[in-house]
Amino acid sequence: MQLIKGTTKLLGVIGDPVEHSLSPVMQNAAIAHLNLDYVYLPLPVATEALEVALRGFAAIKLVGFNVTIPHKQAIMPLLAKISPTAQMVGAVNSVWRTERGWEGTNTDVEGFIAPLQEAARNWRQIAPVVLGNGGAARAVVVGCHQLGCVEIHVVGRNLEKLAQFKQSWQNTALEAKVKVHSWSNLPSLIHQTQLLVNTTPIGMYPQVNQSPLETELCAQLPPNAIAYDLIYNPRPTLFLQQAKEQGAMIIDGSEMLVQQGAAALRIWLDQPVPVEIMRQALLEQL
Ligand code: NAP
Repeated sequence: MQLIKGTTKLLGVIGDPVEHSLSPVMQNAAIAHLNLDYVYLPLPVATEALEVALRGFAAIKLVGFNVTIPHKQAIMPLLAKISPTAQMVGAVNSVWRTERGWEGTNTDVEGFIAPLQEAARNWRQIAPVVLGNGGAARAVVVGCHQLGCVEIHVVGRNLEKLAQFKQSWQNTALEAKVKVHSWSNLPSLIHQTQLLVNTTPIGMYPQVNQSPLETELCAQLPPNAIAYDLIYNPRPTLFLQQAKEQGAMIIDGSEMLVQQGAAALRIWLDQPVPVEIMRQALLEQL
């Protein structure tokens, strides 16, 4: 534990609830490793208190903070500047203080991409299939776009929400890239994709015996494909176990969690951060 002194600078995570956040353990491990005079705190903020909390954080000169449910969209009109990535996603998860006010971005995109960049693939020739069309799917779609994918297939169960999802990319660089499908179309997509991403909570603890895919459908995944599950508990999920049996490369959600945190810490500190220390701290906590 770092010694907290009169000079200690403040970082944190806002949310409601925030008690279950894994970020304090991960971020404080990095701060301790770097021997910096900072501390990262859980900051419970109710929806109705968001605006006043931001004024308070400015008053006490908080350096920056992460944003989790339910504030990721609600905080946007309260910020002085929002990065193009966060604008595209429509959500902010990392904020820092400037002379002009609070600025925000979305490091989930960088977190999602990080392990994929390690895999040598020609992303321009890959049309990912994304299961689910909620908040995390938006970061995944923007991530696939940033990788260079020219077509991104999003599969959802609610046709109205799917249509809204498609509509939300209008007048952006993603308008023509994002194709939406109902689950019944999945068999026609799966056998030709090199990247299949689960952004639904199916298979998350305690429903560890569930998978978004039936085994027969998973068997149609090309053997050299990448299966990516945003879920980090359990590691791996049943979906990833099925995909591994097909010879797919698998990535679980813990790496995205580590990398989004590392990206935020890099912004606040403006220096390289110890990703391996953060990974170890997170995995011990999981
Ligand atoms: P969300 O906004 O609630 O979206 C969930 C999506 O999954 C929605 O499209 C929902 O469909 C769909 N869905 C839920 N249950 C389903 C089912 N039984 N069958 C078919 N579709 C179903 O949630 P989110 O914020 O995007 O988070 C999704 C998952 O990603 C969670 O497991 C979360 O823990 C994980 N996540 C991980 C990271 C990371 O860093 N690793 C970051 C963010 C999120 P409807 O809209 O029709 O309900």
